[in-house]
Amino acid sequence: MRRPSVRQFLRYAARYRGWRSYLRFPGDGRICPQIGAEILLRVLLVSRLLREVSFLAAEELVRSPARIVLGIRRCFGDDTLSYCTERLDLTRLRMAATEVIRQAKRNKAFDGSRWIGVAIDGTGAGRSRKKKCCWCRPIRDSEKLIVGYGHKLVMVSVVGTGLSLPFDLEPYGPGDSEYAAGQRLLRRAVEHLGRRFADYVVVDGEFATAPFLHAAGDLGLRTIARLKGNLPELSSAAERRFASRPPDRRFRYESDRVEIWDADDFDPWTELRWETVRVVYYRQHKTDGSLVEAYWLTDLSQKQAGSEAIFRMAKSRWEIENQGFNEAKNRYGLEHVCHHHPNSLLVNWLIMALVLTLERLFRIRYLHRGSHPILEPIALLRLFRLSMATFVDSS
Ligand SMILES: [Zn+2]
Repeated sequence: MRRPSVRQFLRYAARYRGWRSYLRFPGDGRICPQIGAEILLRVLLVSRLLREVSFLAAEELVRSPARIVLGIRRCFGDDTLSYCTERLDLTRLRMAATEVIRQAKRNKAFDGSRWIGVAIDGTGAGRSRKKKCCWCRPIRDSEKLIVGYGHKLVMVSVVGTGLSLPFDLEPYGPGDSEYAAGQRLLRRAVEHLGRRFADYVVVDGEFATAPFLHAAGDLGLRTIARLKGNLPELSSAAERRFASRPPDRRFRYESDRVEIWDADDFDPWTELRWETVRVVYYRQHKTDGSLVEAYWLTDLSQKQAGSEAIFRMAKSRWEIENQGFNEAKNRYGLEHVCHHHPNSLLVNWLIMALVLTLERLFRIRYLHRGSHPILEPIALLRLFRLSMATFVDSS
């Protein structure tokens, strides 16, 4: 196989009909633009793929001879990117990202998994000293004084399949909440993916509220939610019940020893319209002697999914933290604000999610064909950067 390159990646991305047709019709709100949105979007995708986090870096890429790799002849400045991202249609970009996920499923990317999950969770991104856009939320110190502003968003990712693929996100501004944004995002995700795409949604304790669980159920999804102190009656009932009996099952998870308790006949709290609640409690003994324990609630019956399957679904929630937010922040610059405008922020975040997803599909599926090992992300990044340099030398 040829050495992986940025050109090869772009050709691979173009295999996804959602991305290909999006580039043709991205919903560009500019009047008589001199540089087409397709070119600007390709620059945004590649500069993020190369882990460049600013529009200025994208401008330098465009001003260098390496722009030939992207099929660009004319130079343009970072202000062109700002102007364009202010005016791009968000729905089309969201649908393009979701269509990539749907095509991945059609291409059997998840066929090795009995269950396909989606995880939803929130994080913060991009601070400023002054309020500059409608998504800016005040950050307060211990005395409730405003010390700056930041953004909040919830993200949705495919999880539990061996491929963590984030594909959409929803911001929430002042007066809004993570939990309300999570419901909007889940509804849109299912609308775009189709009702039978995923089997379950996995969420942290903040989302374990009757309206969220009902919304998921209405969308045809089962829920696995962390059970914490925000549901005190159910929490203490489960603690009392499980403290008095040995575990229902013991098994190995990687090199750890896991004990699990599982009962499906707890009473729902007043607002919850489930007949009963199933609670699973696990104690994971790590090889270094430490212990991880957690309670989870679900509406999957014991017949539908055994204790070990619920444990794995619960664990898949970490993917949105680790492969989602941590990678986006530490490697792809989620915290950096390229251009402080509400639409531009969202375009950048969505492009970042798309880059995370396409990079993984390219690296873990496409390059891993036959006997080729899975490349480490940093090894692929190095090859991508070298492929830009090689091209410059030979041109
Ligand atoms: Zn803002």
